[in-house]
Amino acid sequence: MKLPSLNLQILIGAITGLGLGWYFHGLDAENAVVELGLYSASLVATLFIDLLKMILIPLVFCSIAVGIANLRQHQQMHKVWVTTLAFFVASMAIAIALGLLASNYFKPGAGLHLAMFTDAMQNFEAKQLPLPEFFAQFLHSIFINPFTALSQGNVLAVVVFALILGIALVMGGERYKNILALLQEALEICMRIVSWIMRLAPLGIFALLFKLVVLQDATMLTTLGKFIAVVLGTTLFHGVVVLPLILFVFTGKSPLWFWRGAREALVTAFSTSSSNATLPVTLRCTMQHLHVKPEIAGFVIPLGATINMDGTALYEAAAALFIANIAGIDLSLAQQFIVFFTAMIAAMGAPGIPSAGMVTMVMVLQSVGLPAEAIAILLPIDRLLDTLRTTVNVQGDMVGSLVVQKLVSK
Ligand code: ASP
Repeated sequence: MKLPSLNLQILIGAITGLGLGWYFHGLDAENAVVELGLYSASLVATLFIDLLKMILIPLVFCSIAVGIANLRQHQQMHKVWVTTLAFFVASMAIAIALGLLASNYFKPGAGLHLAMFTDAMQNFEAKQLPLPEFFAQFLHSIFINPFTALSQGNVLAVVVFALILGIALVMGGERYKNILALLQEALEICMRIVSWIMRLAPLGIFALLFKLVVLQDATMLTTLGKFIAVVLGTTLFHGVVVLPLILFVFTGKSPLWFWRGAREALVTAFSTSSSNATLPVTLRCTMQHLHVKPEIAGFVIPLGATINMDGTALYEAAAALFIANIAGIDLSLAQQFIVFFTAMIAAMGAPGIPSAGMVTMVMVLQSVGLPAEAIAILLPIDRLLDTLRTTVNVQGDMVGSLVVQKLVSK
C-alpha cells in the first residue's frame, strides 16, 4: 500500500494529536488509559526531539562554515551579512510595534487584580536579570572553546565559531579546499540523516500535541482568556499578513507557495516549541522546497534560529503591558519605548528552546519597574502560547532567507 505524502502524514498526525488530546483531557487524570497514553506519548515525543537535537549541532556547524565559504567574493559576504541583520531587526521591530498597539487598544488584564494571583507569585522566585548584566553574560557566551560549545550544544557559540572558520576557509582559498570538501560532504550526510528523522515526524508531532492538550490547565485559560486571544491574534496577524506581505513585496512569491514549501518546518515548530529542535527541518525546507541557495540558507537560518524571533519579541512586549495592566500601572510612552528596546534584546538573547522567552522577559519587566514574580501568572499558559510564537519565529527566518537571497542577487 502506498502511504500518503509526508506532508499529509504530518498534518494527519497534528490533527489527530489535538483531537485525541482533547478527548483525553476530558477523562479522569487517574484513569489508567490516560496514564498509559501520556506515558507512550512522552516516550515518542522525547525520542523525536532527541533525534532532532542529535543532528542539530553537526548540521549547524557544517551549514554555516560551508555557507560562508561559498559566499566566496568578499563583496557578497558583506552584503548578505548586513541585509540579514537589517531584516532581523526590522521584522522584530514591526512585531513589537504590533504587540504594543494591540495591547494598548484591547487592554488585556485591565479588569484583573494582581492580588488574584498572589498564590502563584509567592511560590515563584524570579532570577534577577538586569539589562547590563544580561548583556555582559550574552557577550561572554559568544566566544568559547569550540569543542566545549559543540559538546554542550551551545548553538550561539557554535554559530560564531563556524562563521570564523568559514571566513578562514574563504581567506585561505585553494589551500584549504580539502577541508571545505570534507565539510560539504558532512553537510550532505547530515541532511540525509534529517530526512530519515523526518519519517518519524508524523508520530512525533502527534505525540507532542497530544501531550500538550492533555496537560493544559483549563481554568487559567478562561481567566487569562483575553490576554491569550490578544497574543494569539496578533501573532497570527504577523504570521498570516505581515510576513507574507513582506515576502510578496520583496520577492513576488505568493503566500500559498511559501506555505507549501514551509509547512513541514512550521508544523514541527508548532509542536516542539523550539526553534533549535526545528532547525534541521527548517534548513531542509528552505533549501529543498523554497530553493534558497545553500550558502544563503546555511547562514541565515541557523543565525535566525538563535537571534531572530518575531513571535517572542511580540510576546515580550504584549506580556509586559498585560502585567502592567493587572498591577494597575499605566506605562507612559517613554516607558513603552523602553519596553520596545528591551523586548528586542530579550528576544534576541532568548535561546531557541521551549519557554526561553519567559525567562528573558524578566529583564523587560524589570526595565520598567514591574514585579518580575508576575511571570508566574503566565507560566501555566506558556506552553500553549509558545506553540504559535515559535512557529512565527521560524517563519520569520525562512522569509528572511528568501528576502536576503533576492536582495543580494540584485
Ligand atoms: N520557544 C521559542 C523558540 O524556540 C523561544 C521562546 O520561548 O519564545 O523560538
